[in-house]
Amino acid sequence: MRPVCLVLLAAALVLRAQPGAAGDRVFQYSTINALLAGLYDGDLSFGALAKEGDFGLGTLNRLDGEMVALDGAFYQVRTDGHAYLVPETALTPFAVMTRFAADRTVPLPAGLDLKGLTAYLDGLIQNPNHLYAVRIDGVFPALTVRSVPAQTSPYRKLAQVIEDQVEFHLKDAEGTLVAFRTPSFLAGLNVPGYHLHFLSKDRSRGGHVLGLETGSGTIALDEIADLEMRLPKLPAFAAADLAGARAVEIGKVEKQGN
Ligand code: ZN
Repeated sequence: MRPVCLVLLAAALVLRAQPGAAGDRVFQYSTINALLAGLYDGDLSFGALAKEGDFGLGTLNRLDGEMVALDGAFYQVRTDGHAYLVPETALTPFAVMTRFAADRTVPLPAGLDLKGLTAYLDGLIQNPNHLYAVRIDGVFPALTVRSVPAQTSPYRKLAQVIEDQVEFHLKDAEGTLVAFRTPSFLAGLNVPGYHLHFLSKDRSRGGHVLGLETGSGTIALDEIADLEMRLPKLPAFAAADLAGARAVEIGKVEKQGN
């Protein structure tokens, strides 16, 4: 029995020693700057996106709600706060995906607000210059999520659209936070720092997370060294000015809440 245990222990050590192992990568479609600029129509279907991962976040064409991908299923959270399954034929203008495989799991400390949670996660991050997918299953005594209404062309910039966002204040919400941590040197491509979406355990509610209080749960971290980007093949993307890191606008659209 003892040799078997040693073999298992050795296998476990090998797995733990290789975060970002084979096949681990983030797939990203379009860029956050494109979304900020009002490029709300993409040319990638959710059927195609499903091949790139089982865990992720983003939005749908026309900026029609918040998207959460969990365990291989895609959900659209509309401005009624409810989650709907996304048809394969629907298109996305911005999405970030991975095939989630936890390198490490730790208990979720209770009583943290969003700032406290991200500081706690930062303490768990071993390589701040890699990407991380973060999955947190738990109970949240308080959770503020938002969604955004579908837009009509000509599109306004995201910082303006976000003024029409609809917020939901959930109590004792049980479910999953689907999040990515992006290094700041990738600003312009993706949201620097943490970007979190939520999906309830019964898959009925969710949205982009603006605030929370943690209860009990589990944090799972997936460190990822590979990044694959696909850019829209559309005239609007060709014509857009996507330069620079728009820190002020990103702060407004990703973190604004009451
Ligand atoms: Zn979001």
